[in-house]
Parts: sequence; C-alpha cells; structure tokens
Amino acid sequence: MLAHATYGRYGPDMKKDTLLAHKGRKPSANHGVVNPPVYHASTIVYPTVAALKAAQASRHQPGAVTYGRHGTPTTFALEDAMAALEGGFRAATLPSGLAAICAALLAFVKQGDHVLMVDSVYGPSRAFATGMLKNMGVETSFYDPMIGAGIAALIKPNTKVVFTEAPGSLTFEVQDIPAIAKAAHAAGAVVLMDNTWAAGYFFSPFAHGVDVSIHAATKYVVGHSDAMLGLVVTNEQHFMTVKNAVAGLGYCAGPDDIYLGLRGLRTMGVRLKQHYATGLHLARWLQQRPEVERVLHPALPDAIGHAFWKRDFTGACGLFSCVLKPASEAAVAAMLDGMSLFAMGYSWGGFESLILHVEPNKIRTVKPFDAAGPVLRLHAGLEDPDDLIADLRGGFERLAKVK
Ligand SMILES: *Cc1c(COP(=O)(O)O)cnc(C)c1O
Repeated sequence: MLAHATYGRYGPDMKKDTLLAHKGRKPSANHGVVNPPVYHASTIVYPTVAALKAAQASRHQPGAVTYGRHGTPTTFALEDAMAALEGGFRAATLPSGLAAICAALLAFVKQGDHVLMVDSVYGPSRAFATGMLKNMGVETSFYDPMIGAGIAALIKPNTKVVFTEAPGSLTFEVQDIPAIAKAAHAAGAVVLMDNTWAAGYFFSPFAHGVDVSIHAATKYVVGHSDAMLGLVVTNEQHFMTVKNAVAGLGYCAGPDDIYLGLRGLRTMGVRLKQHYATGLHLARWLQQRPEVERVLHPALPDAIGHAFWKRDFTGACGLFSCVLKPASEAAVAAMLDGMSLFAMGYSWGGFESLILHVEPNKIRTVKPFDAAGPVLRLHAGLEDPDDLIADLRGGFERLAKVK
C-alpha cells in the first residue's frame, strides 16, 4: 500500500501556492515518481481473516484502503491536498459538485428539520431543497444574501443547517460569512458553504466560521472542462458525519477523474491569478460601455457586499455578470450568436471564455434581483484580454443594430 501522504492542518508557515504544489503527493513512497499513481480498484483482498477484520475496523480512518468505493490512495491524495489548501481537517470526494452539495445537506438533516438557504444559491441546490428535501419532510426557507447577523431572527428551534454561497450564483452578492456563522453557531446550527467561486484559494472558509466547505471541483480544480468532480472539506468535528453520509449514499468518483482533479490543482494558483486579472480587466472595460447598466463583480467598489469581499477574500475568479441597458431578446441573441471566442454553455472554470444570458429572477423567491435589462454572465478564460475585448466589442456592435 502506498504510504499515506499527509493529513490534518497545515501551519500558517506554508502559503497556498506551496500547498498546491506539494500536498497530496509523496514521491519517496512511489519510486520517486512526482505524481501519485492512479489506482483502479473495487475489491481489496486480504491475506488473513485477522487482516480483513483489522481493515474493516479501520474503515474511514486516514489512508485506510478497504474498498474501492471508500477511496484509494489516488482519492486520498486529492482529499489531502484540498483539505490542506482550505485549512480543513479532511475531505470527501464525490462524482460532481451537485452530488457534494446534496450529500453534505443530507448528512445533517432528518425529517422535521429546517434549513436556511441563501436566495442567491446555485439553482440546482435550491431545486434539491425544494424537491427531495421537502419530500423527506425537511423544510427550507430562503434568506436575503445580505442578511448578515440578521439571520438570527430566521433561525428556528429545528434549524440544523445554514447554507451559504459567496458570492451568489449569477448576481455575485458577497455574504458576511463570519456574521452568519456566529449567529448559526449560537443556535447550534451547522454552517455549510458552496465555496466553488473562490475555489478554496481566494477564501479560507474555516478561518471565517464555516464548518463544511463544498466544491464543484468540476470548475477550477479540474480547470480544463474535461471532468466532473465534487469535494466536501470539513472541520474535525463534522468529518465523520459527512464521510458516513457520502459512504452510505454510495458516492465515489472515478480514478481518472480524480487524477485530473489532482493534476488541475497543481496549476490552479497561477490559473486563478490570470482569471482574476483578465476578469477584472474585462469588468472595468464593460463599466465604460454605453450598453452596460452595471457590472456585478465583487472586486468593484459598487458591488453588492464589496466590503465583505475586501475584508475576507484575497482575490476573485474569472466569473462575474453584467446588467445591460434594456435590450430585446433578439438584440441579445444577435450579440451572443456571433461571438467568436466567448462560447455559450453551462459550467465554467476551464481555460476558455464563456458568456451566457441568465435570468436570476426566475429562481429567486425572497429578494428579487433589481435589473431592468438583460443579465449576462461571463467567464474570463485564459485568452489574451485584448482579443476578448475585441470579441465583446463586436458583440455590442451587433446588439446595437437590432431593435
Ligand atoms: C457548477 C456548480 C455546481 C455544481 O457542480 P457540478 O460539478 O456541475 O455538479 C455547484 N455550485 C456552483 C456554485 C456551481 O457553479
């Protein structure tokens, strides 16, 4: 068995870029090979009855390989690296980001419980809460993303989970996570966060009161639009609750996809810095355009929750939105249909730029998003920003030609 690489907390002495390069691998345990091997495994065999019993007793302990579904050294390498990056205790790997969200929610609720979920949450997270969780007898209420400490008034005796996501999907409100966590903890609720946007790199969830940090690793961890993957990182207190739920639901991810996640992680820091620079450059350019009403980018001073971004985040990824001045659907279609570099499609976090016409008010229930014109969500990829600007300029010219 490959000796297990590393576990637990890492001192403040090591910076995130160093962690990304070094955690979750141990060449000395692997013939000097830099990267961990990809284990394809289901059955694990044992030489004796005693060894089999010992393995069963150590199930879910750090590094224990007991069955393919429970993880192999390939799985543990990714989990170690991600837990180290976020300053968490341990992590669990899932086949998609949505699976990670659902398993993390199911870990903490039972019939009769109540969940508080941010109104700007990723659409499928909301659909899971109002669909399957509701059918199981779990009630969800949605709250204003800018509620902050005011969440205390919404917490009921049966509130078990406060689900956060910062910034919000589509409209990028930055939540006051420490204030929400403080109120939640005072009432005995667990704080879950969808931390996909910051990728564990621009926001350290555990230092800000989060108990369980959830990732669509499909996005920046994989980083190349070629695999689906989810991760849940927890503090020490909540790890076994999450691991037992993930294992009990039968979730596991394929070894080759996990390897793509590990490989993506090694360059995630440099990629994110470039996505940040290009995204902000495009956001500032868009602010100057006459067709644009407002740019929704957490790093811009007029962003909703900008003060919290400035206080708690160390950067921004390439995903943001802008609100156009009122324009017809045909005009928006003329703009988007003719883009040559920006492609239209769901998901994000790869090396390529994306653009999408989104409709936040079709999903919100508590806090309608105030926008008179169409909302475009952009993902700034790794292309040269000048070329991206030329593509957007061409788009605005097409937009202006259609009434
Ligand atoms: C994409 C996304 C997810 C879901 O991830 P998948 O891997 O596509 O299932 C969850 N949360 C956020 C914020 C996302 O953008």
